[in-house]
Amino acid sequence: MRIDQDRVDIAVVGAGPAGSAAAEAAAKLGVDVLLIERKREVGTPVQCGGFLPEAGELHDLLPNAKIPDALEKVSEGQTLHRTRVQRIYAPSGKAKEFPVSGRVVDRRGFDRALAWRAARAGARVLVGTRARLEGSSLLLSGRSSGTIEAGVVIGSDGPSSATARSAGMACRQEMGVCLEYEMVDVDIDPDAAEMYFGARSAPGGYAWIIPLGQDVANVGVGTRSAYLAGRKLRDLLESFIANHPVAKEKLQRGEVMAVMRGLVPAGGMPPAIAKGNVLLAGDAAGMVMATSGGGIPLAMVGGRAAGEVAARHARGEADLGEYPSRIATEMGRELANSVRIREVVDRMMRSDRLMDALFAMLPPDQMKAIMRGQIPGALERAQDLVANR
Ligand SMILES: Cc1cc2nc3c(=O)[nH]c(=O)nc-3n(C[C@H](O)[C@H](O)[C@H](O)COP(=O)(O)OP(=O)(O)OC[C@H]3O[C@@H](n4cnc5c(N)ncnc54)[C@H](O)[C@@H]3O)c2cc1C
Repeated sequence: MRIDQDRVDIAVVGAGPAGSAAAEAAAKLGVDVLLIERKREVGTPVQCGGFLPEAGELHDLLPNAKIPDALEKVSEGQTLHRTRVQRIYAPSGKAKEFPVSGRVVDRRGFDRALAWRAARAGARVLVGTRARLEGSSLLLSGRSSGTIEAGVVIGSDGPSSATARSAGMACRQEMGVCLEYEMVDVDIDPDAAEMYFGARSAPGGYAWIIPLGQDVANVGVGTRSAYLAGRKLRDLLESFIANHPVAKEKLQRGEVMAVMRGLVPAGGMPPAIAKGNVLLAGDAAGMVMATSGGGIPLAMVGGRAAGEVAARHARGEADLGEYPSRIATEMGRELANSVRIREVVDRMMRSDRLMDALFAMLPPDQMKAIMRGQIPGALERAQDLVANR
């Protein structure tokens, strides 16, 4: 089907959380918005753990951000489960925990609901359609085809963003590689989202158990290619499930119901997230907490900011240069800190003994601060310790 228009105020490439938040925000300001998604069904297949901090936690996590409504008030229909604590296991198997109110969303339903919000706000949505940026035009192929000029293009096309590459904003970025199983009949603590560190299960990253119910969980491992040293992610995850001294008791009787894999940007934002008439948002712009790999909230905050600035630009009220400044104000410090923390922890992860020492030094409240991209004194001291070795 050929598209029946050749110009649009704003074209948004990718209907993940960033793109749908951008399209909704822009459409609400009364401009002409096209949201283009290459998948035939928004949100499917799922490539995510679905863990979201509750609204109160989000305000602590990103105190300067304008949190979109859709993130603040996630509907019960999209909520699969709630957790109360975050528990972190050192390589030694010792655990520390701190309170975090979290909810686990059904990503398929969540992403669809976000795209519905964009459509209801007035955005036109093209599914099953791939967009390729060429010069100032977008070439569409798939279910819809044709060429379209856009006043502003928002590249929210995920971690391998082709829009970022075409616009000359992609940089060599450290990528997390993740593999996750949905498992049923597991003997987990349904109140706790758990992270497991240790070179055997997750060199250069961590393994996780995110409960989806009393005996159902997303179980995954994430690391970076450089740390795999010839090993396969699948072997790491299988070994975590079968051999980790603590996790095997919870998981080894479980059955795998779904397999998900994907990339997570791990190095923060590229030097530019706006160039010419192109803005990048979400994973395409490296908006992920490098300490946890959590990207949904930041994608939505970034998407909303991109949509609002783009719409005000289309109405002649704003310069696109406002976008990077707004991102810097809303979450620049937290993103930069999370990358800095990850670099310190990377040095610690060279040895399980160092990780155990760091773990012993950090009281639970400081661990929570670290996960939120804050740098407590103990981490500074740990950094000195490693630097002096
Ligand atoms: C295994 C795994 C587990 C994770 N768990 C969590 C978690 O528990 N909590 C959390 O907060 N984060 C988690 N994340 C990270 C989170 O999924 C991302 O940060 C988030 O999805 C980013 O949203 P986005 O909109 O930027 O990108 P995406 O969700 O990747 O959406 C991008 C969209 O663009 C579309 N697209 C790409 N190219 C084109 C094109 N050329 N034309 C049209 N459409 C295109 C894609 O199909 C996709 O729908 C996880 C990631 C992985 C891989």
